[in-house]
Amino acid sequence: MTTAENIKRLAHTNGVMFDIDGCLVISDGPAGQDGRVLEGAAEAIEYMKSSGRKYCVYTNGTAQKPTDIAEHLRSMGINVPDELVLTPAVVAAEVIKDTYGDKPIMLFGGEGMLHDFKKRGVNLVDIEAAIKGSKPDVAAVVVGWDTDFGKNKIQIAAEAILAGADLYCTSFSPAFASKDRLNVGVSGFITAGLLFVTETTKFEILGKPSQHSMNIISRVLDVPIPEILVIGDDIILEASMARKAGAFAGVVLTGTSKQKDVDAASADVAPELVIQSMTEFVDLFTQADAQYRQTAN
Ligand SMILES: [Mg+2]
Repeated sequence: MTTAENIKRLAHTNGVMFDIDGCLVISDGPAGQDGRVLEGAAEAIEYMKSSGRKYCVYTNGTAQKPTDIAEHLRSMGINVPDELVLTPAVVAAEVIKDTYGDKPIMLFGGEGMLHDFKKRGVNLVDIEAAIKGSKPDVAAVVVGWDTDFGKNKIQIAAEAILAGADLYCTSFSPAFASKDRLNVGVSGFITAGLLFVTETTKFEILGKPSQHSMNIISRVLDVPIPEILVIGDDIILEASMARKAGAFAGVVLTGTSKQKDVDAASADVAPELVIQSMTEFVDLFTQADAQYRQTAN
């Protein structure tokens, strides 16, 4: 799209989903741990508030609870309330509850996963009892950030899948944006392993770039998908999700994806808006609103 078209579309954007790592903050841990705020990030959030737009932040990690991520972002100067922080655990808990009701679910992950599933009242299988041989009738296996996933868990998860349970993972990314070191993905690693041992190929992703995630973003923002801008540093996670779902797809070049990746992206996943920093994000919105939005007074 041309700059003029993008400016017009920004003016008509009523909700924004911000990615965290590589977009608002950069660090060597998930959700900004030990990191720093990227230029213009705090101002971008404030601009959403002052211009009356809805927004949320969404990180693809499930190591931490959304409330802990929110608190950490606020301590760094990015002022977001708890309920506007999304992770795949939030999406997963909603989708699993909607799809399976009170059927037994085998969930793998730490408190970052459990928190939202307990909050939604999902019927969780007792993992320790299953390891001891309880043979639960599992409707779905959900894999999140589980750093203790060893042989016993491989065994019970594989048995459940082979008995007909559906397989879901929160993120299938090999790694995410980092300052210096490779930030490896855990749930995708486990899921790939389970596909290997069960000799199956069928699974669904619940985090970015899934349609499930886009639906929950729209629900949380209370804004229809075509009026939402998705901005993040990873074309595969954010731009492709937005494009497939019909949202406005933006990329900021302060993390994983570079200009060469934008140039090489296929037409169906290529971002429509490409910016250098969140400072440019604020500048473009300011320009868009000056041009198209009439103030009442
Ligand atoms: Mg990112």
